[in-house]
Amino acid sequence: MEVDIKDSKKIDFSNLVDLINFDTFYGRGGSFLITPLHQSKVFSKEMFSEDQKMFANAALEYAETRLKPVKDEFKTLNKDLTLELFKEIGEMGFLGVDMPEEYGGSDLDKTTAALVVDYLAFSECGSLLVTLGAHSGIGTLPIVWYGTKEQKEKYLPKIASGEWMSSYALTEPNAGSDAMNGETTAYLNDEKTHYILNGQKIYITNGSWANVCITFAKVDGKMTGFILDKECEGWVIGAEEKKMGIKGSSTTTMFYENCKVPVENMLGTIGEGGHIAFNVLYAGRWKLGFSSAAGCMSSMNGAYKFALERKQFSRSITKFDMIKRKFANMVIKAWESDTLNYATTGSIDHSIEKLDKTDHDYYVKVQKIIEDHAIEASICKVLGSDALAYCVDESVQIFGGAGFIEEYSAAGVYRDERINRIFEGTNEINRLLVAGTFLKKAILEEIPIRDVIFKREENMIPDVNQSGHELEIEMSVIEYCRSLTLKTLDNLINIYGQDLKNKQWVLEPLADVVISLSVMHNGFCRYNQLESGGHKEKTLTVLKVSISEHYNKMIKNVKEINCHIMSKMNLEDDNKNNDFCMSNDSSILALNYCVNTIALKKEICDEFYKNGKYYLNV
Ligand SMILES: Cc1cc2nc3c(=O)[nH]c(=O)nc-3n(C[C@H](O)[C@H](O)[C@H](O)COP(=O)(O)OP(=O)(O)OC[C@H]3O[C@@H](n4cnc5c(N)ncnc54)[C@H](O)[C@@H]3O)c2cc1C
Repeated sequence: MEVDIKDSKKIDFSNLVDLINFDTFYGRGGSFLITPLHQSKVFSKEMFSEDQKMFANAALEYAETRLKPVKDEFKTLNKDLTLELFKEIGEMGFLGVDMPEEYGGSDLDKTTAALVVDYLAFSECGSLLVTLGAHSGIGTLPIVWYGTKEQKEKYLPKIASGEWMSSYALTEPNAGSDAMNGETTAYLNDEKTHYILNGQKIYITNGSWANVCITFAKVDGKMTGFILDKECEGWVIGAEEKKMGIKGSSTTTMFYENCKVPVENMLGTIGEGGHIAFNVLYAGRWKLGFSSAAGCMSSMNGAYKFALERKQFSRSITKFDMIKRKFANMVIKAWESDTLNYATTGSIDHSIEKLDKTDHDYYVKVQKIIEDHAIEASICKVLGSDALAYCVDESVQIFGGAGFIEEYSAAGVYRDERINRIFEGTNEINRLLVAGTFLKKAILEEIPIRDVIFKREENMIPDVNQSGHELEIEMSVIEYCRSLTLKTLDNLINIYGQDLKNKQWVLEPLADVVISLSVMHNGFCRYNQLESGGHKEKTLTVLKVSISEHYNKMIKNVKEINCHIMSKMNLEDDNKNNDFCMSNDSSILALNYCVNTIALKKEICDEFYKNGKYYLNV
């Protein structure tokens, strides 16, 4: 914690918060929990550098001209086309964006690596994106971050160019969410030349196509990472799974039957496997947020094209208000997810930029920064996949019966979408991570959550110093929500202590409270940084609904928690109990915060119709 102490004699606990220099928390994970709006900043699409714009345009053009025309070819497994495109994408440099230059990559920032995913996702080739995601994320980063020089030299150039495809095998029949419970074992052979792996991994993406696999096995009971390649005897690939969606991607079981892995292919050290396995998942989570946001935009655009042509009751169904509401909701959810995604990579990049690339511990420090953003990574995943689920479901609804018929696009997208709430940690596990990391950051004082809680006890709505700002009331509402989030955690810690991490009935709504705060906070900051003009005005309408809806969501979730813990709070009488349960606070009532969301949604839908597509991309 960085504290500006001007005169140490004046310090007392209640003044501590006033002395915190919140600006210094930009680039730290969870900083949105404590930093007042007027001292916050955020990265967004509108701030792309020229290089980032160039990558975005190149990826979008490739997605629209090369990939989209063949999207129906991925309705079933199509190995030849997948491998052809995979190599092409490698030659274009998109597979190596996250890899060091000396091994054939371009070592770009996290935002550029993610925006490639974002814009390629406009191809609407869900299966291909899953193939690419497993390859260049979880199938590659373990070697970049933990590999020896020899391992990097051997594998990374071929992985970056698309000559070799990679995979990541962690899940086992008895170890899914509880991934550390795996039963696969490894022992060193008598000659000490090879580790011998025995066990089984299930549901592995790229299973039957991959030349390389990052996998995990227990050596003397300690989870350890290994790199498998086609030279490893005993690496046996099972049959293709028959899946609900993403049918154009390969998913298989892998059997390790006395599988011989050279000792030099151990990744990291014995016992480091859990760390490796989990750390690389963070990047996978925010990238899934990016592909989900793009999916939201594509599905609303597709539904609009259909709706425009479809006439019922002598008019296009776009004229019906219930259809308009759906489109407005889709725009809002897509914008929220997009906002959180770039806020997350921007914050990570801000911290990584300060590192020295020649530092021997460079990648250790990069990982620490990424791990520090565990809350943000999980929020990107949950918010994005939930938004996509909403958008594709409403898209099917707008198609009506045609939405249920394979000839139309909506049905396939509906099935493809479903996996996003399951892999890269189910949304339940990610909500546990959001709430659990919030608790951990407070208890370990990684950021001064306790100090801010203490200060806000006195005043739930600190002065936002922004009189005359067009969103002055909304700023107060968000600050109130920040206080409420912190106070709710404080109440829960006081009641349950560290055992809170096991109380899922309250952890799930607590995670949603944190998610709502992060949407309101980052949404406001994104808007506030925009240059005046049409784009800013259109963003304002969306932001106002977003804040109003997340405020209501937050109040509902806090009430649910408070009504559950009320009896344990030892409040004086029924009135106090009632006040506590309803989260009544006279200051927020005085703000008279009441938003005409129907009028705003009408405006949002009008703008969407005027553009004929999602209109808040730059
Ligand atoms: C198409 C596809 C591709 C995949 N690709 C890969 C891959 O490339 N590599 C890889 O290693 N794995 C992969 N997986 C596996 C995937 O990551 C797991 O399926 C996922 O982590 C869930 O594990 P599980 O299926 O065992 O479900 P379970 O862990 O059995 O979960 C079942 C349900 O219980 C809930 N649950 C479990 N634990 C808790 C808890 N503590 N608290 C609350 N709820 C809980 C879950 O949220 C879920 O709703 C893939 C799966 C699929 C379907």
